[in-house]
Amino acid sequence: MRPGILIFTLLVSAWAELLSAKVVAPPAGAQSTPAVLSELREKALHDPLAMQVLEGLTSEIGARQVGSENFVRARDWAVKKLQSLGFQNVHTEPFTLTAWTRGEERARIVAPYPQKLAIIGLGGTLPTPAGGVDAEIVLFKKYASLLEAPPGSLTGKIAVVTEPMAPGMAGYAALGKARRLGPAEAAKRGAIAYLVRSLGNGSTRLAHTGFMSQDAATVPAAALSAPDAELLERIADRGTPVRIHLELASSTHPAQSWNTVGEIPGATDETVLMGAHLDSWDVGTGANDDGAGVAIAVAAAKLATETRLRRTVRVVLYGGEEIGVAGPAYAQYNSKNLKKMIIAGESDSGSEPAIEVRLPAGGAQNPALADLSSALSPLAVRSNSEPSREGGPDIEPLNDLGVPGLEVVQRLDSYFHWHHTEDDTLDKVVPAELSQNVATWAVLLRVMADRNVVFERKAVEPAK
Ligand SMILES: [Zn+2]
Repeated sequence: MRPGILIFTLLVSAWAELLSAKVVAPPAGAQSTPAVLSELREKALHDPLAMQVLEGLTSEIGARQVGSENFVRARDWAVKKLQSLGFQNVHTEPFTLTAWTRGEERARIVAPYPQKLAIIGLGGTLPTPAGGVDAEIVLFKKYASLLEAPPGSLTGKIAVVTEPMAPGMAGYAALGKARRLGPAEAAKRGAIAYLVRSLGNGSTRLAHTGFMSQDAATVPAAALSAPDAELLERIADRGTPVRIHLELASSTHPAQSWNTVGEIPGATDETVLMGAHLDSWDVGTGANDDGAGVAIAVAAAKLATETRLRRTVRVVLYGGEEIGVAGPAYAQYNSKNLKKMIIAGESDSGSEPAIEVRLPAGGAQNPALADLSSALSPLAVRSNSEPSREGGPDIEPLNDLGVPGLEVVQRLDSYFHWHHTEDDTLDKVVPAELSQNVATWAVLLRVMADRNVVFERKAVEPAK
């Protein structure tokens, strides 16, 4: 062989080797053996990154309601954070929305026993006329009783629903309609305003805000703190008419928001998505909802990918979960590129420990994932053989487009004490519990991105 040809051959083979290193995936599963997962789990339990991220977000930004200046600062903060941690392809995906801004709010009992009431306007509520409204109340101890009230029966009145929420996510889901749709139901019957007992499990005098359906925004609507709802019940029980003065100011404006994305690239074009939402309500510092999820997602993705994996791990920090706009925007923006998205999960239940994992249909029975439950059991996380249910509002639109969902259930002993209140602050987060979530997700992301497992995809109805 002539020296020229030899050099050419060497060059070609070196080039081919370079290329193949780029495109050939590492052997499936080599980075998620039981020993590797055990090491990853222990490391994650002692890793400070999640707490650092959460402390930074809550201290440097604080509340970050979508459509506010603070949300724009949060977006820039998130982009910088992802870049500084070595995420690639860091970018934002814009969409438009109508933003709502809270103004002055107050309520008091005018008669028979004048005193202040602790309330907070529901997100998206209409304002009262300047100077407020002053009217007699009709109190319903059950939301169902409001629905039974005949048309016209609340004309000129303020409807008040004082049903307490049962504990946990099931209770929240069951009574959610009282907040989302109650204002419209009251308006249909002639009411001029609506008050609902806060959706929460605590006894704090802070009221809990939250989204109400914009179709329901036909009368001013606010949440009462739990003690104030009970106070009104006791007074109403005496049979004397109760009059309330309610003042709610707010405004809306057209705005833009962004989903913030960062990736740790894998060797193939397949993707594993982990989401959390960057926006919060305008009260508290969104430490549990959903600063914790942001911290868990960022730290777990970082730890899971410290070694190169087959699949890309993509973190999506949604910008507008609280008003239900970010998940649909992400799904729409990416709808043509979901075929290679293997699985998607989200962390949006605060910082209390993970207790259960559900895989997509068939996942629990897949022999390639048989060791997952022993990898998670030292964290006291059990594998439920039932398939994952629909994810939260951020992941659901992806599930609807066929992307299999990964579900982690958390303990919610105190989550609904602080949820959507001024008290959702960093002091409520127990660092060891946050780390337990990071360890759970790090193991899951590593397994999903390292192994060659695929899940059955739900058939998707063609778009009309
Ligand atoms: Zn949330």
